[in-house]
Amino acid sequence: MARIELVDLAHAYKPNPTAPADYALRPMSMAWHDGGAYALLGPSGCGKTTLLNIISGLVKPSHGKVLFDGKDVTQLPTEARNIAQVFQFPVIYDTMTVHDNLAFPLRNRGWKESEVKKRVQQVAQMLELTGDLKLRASGLSVDAKQKISLGRGLVRPDVAAVLFDEPLTVIDPHLKWLLRRKLKEIHHELKLSLIYVTHDQVEALTFADQVVVMTQGEVVQTGSAQALFEEPEHTFVGYFIGNPGMNLLGCTLDDGGVRVAGQLLAVSAAARAALSGAQGKITLGVRPEFVECVKAGEGGEGGDHCLDATVTAVRNMGTHYLAEFQLGGAKVAAKLRAIDAVAGAQLGQSVRLRFPPQRTLFYVNDKRVA
Ligand code: ADP
Ligand code: MG
Repeated sequence: MARIELVDLAHAYKPNPTAPADYALRPMSMAWHDGGAYALLGPSGCGKTTLLNIISGLVKPSHGKVLFDGKDVTQLPTEARNIAQVFQFPVIYDTMTVHDNLAFPLRNRGWKESEVKKRVQQVAQMLELTGDLKLRASGLSVDAKQKISLGRGLVRPDVAAVLFDEPLTVIDPHLKWLLRRKLKEIHHELKLSLIYVTHDQVEALTFADQVVVMTQGEVVQTGSAQALFEEPEHTFVGYFIGNPGMNLLGCTLDDGGVRVAGQLLAVSAAARAALSGAQGKITLGVRPEFVECVKAGEGGEGGDHCLDATVTAVRNMGTHYLAEFQLGGAKVAAKLRAIDAVAGAQLGQSVRLRFPPQRTLFYVNDKRVA
């Protein structure tokens, strides 16, 4: 296991990149700690596989360095990096038994047969493959084959890191849920450094201690599930994490607060200080979980952090109401409890929405300032 550092790393597949859009990975520096469980989360095409392949050595970066425990491995081939990688689709030997597939990486390293047997048993048990060990891989379902691929990735205890690139894509939804939890348990038990690539926020948040969120070739935030939820550092994180994502409303500075959809909203002194002198686009962000709804006429002018809006949709989701409001030209989503004013609301009804100041964040040019 190793600490992995990326130093001034960037990558362009095309020669002579100039504009930011020419880069699959924009310049970044970051460290992945030894023994950590990381997820690399972002939409398709944002550069996840490129970053993973640079760490494993399948792709040589056009700029910058990759360090393992302080040693520069940028020019080393994959074989010399001591990395295990699991891909979207099974990579196994069809003609071998499940046991021999799992044993292969260990036998390759010259392990004693008694040790091989012990380790294969341990990994097979974790992945619930014990009953299949004697079977030939060719006859198995795609789910079972992918479990073998996962096992082959996890079987060596001496790797610098195990890299997973959307490994549960071919697995059916129920087994996916089980395997995701399993991988987390395995991480605790085997104490390997794991980097798990996915475009699925639920998968990332259940698996990882630290989630690295990427968009358009850029890492916009690294943090725990709670940090990404409560304190998104970038509007993309607010919008991408959560269901529905954060409400993001354009606003302008005004005396005593900000103007949102023509209405004045008071803001905290801290937010005022952070926004004063802001150059660029200002965005207010508040998660649907934190928006409150009060009856029209209640809550004072602006100073109570309330704005006038109309109800455009209310759905009973069983555990909560998911409501949508029109606020000037913008839509605002809120997750509300049955006792809130909106429960009996009619479509088109006027209400007041309250944005609690401690839950209302501000962004300048998409980066958080308060
Ligand atoms: P992700 O894994 O997040 O879907 P990728 O790392 O595969 O993203 O791709 C990032 C960007 O780099 C995309 O715009 C993709 O089209 C481009 N890209 C990926 N692989 C290559 C390649 N071998 N040659 C040229 N462009 C590539
Ligand atoms: Mg990919």
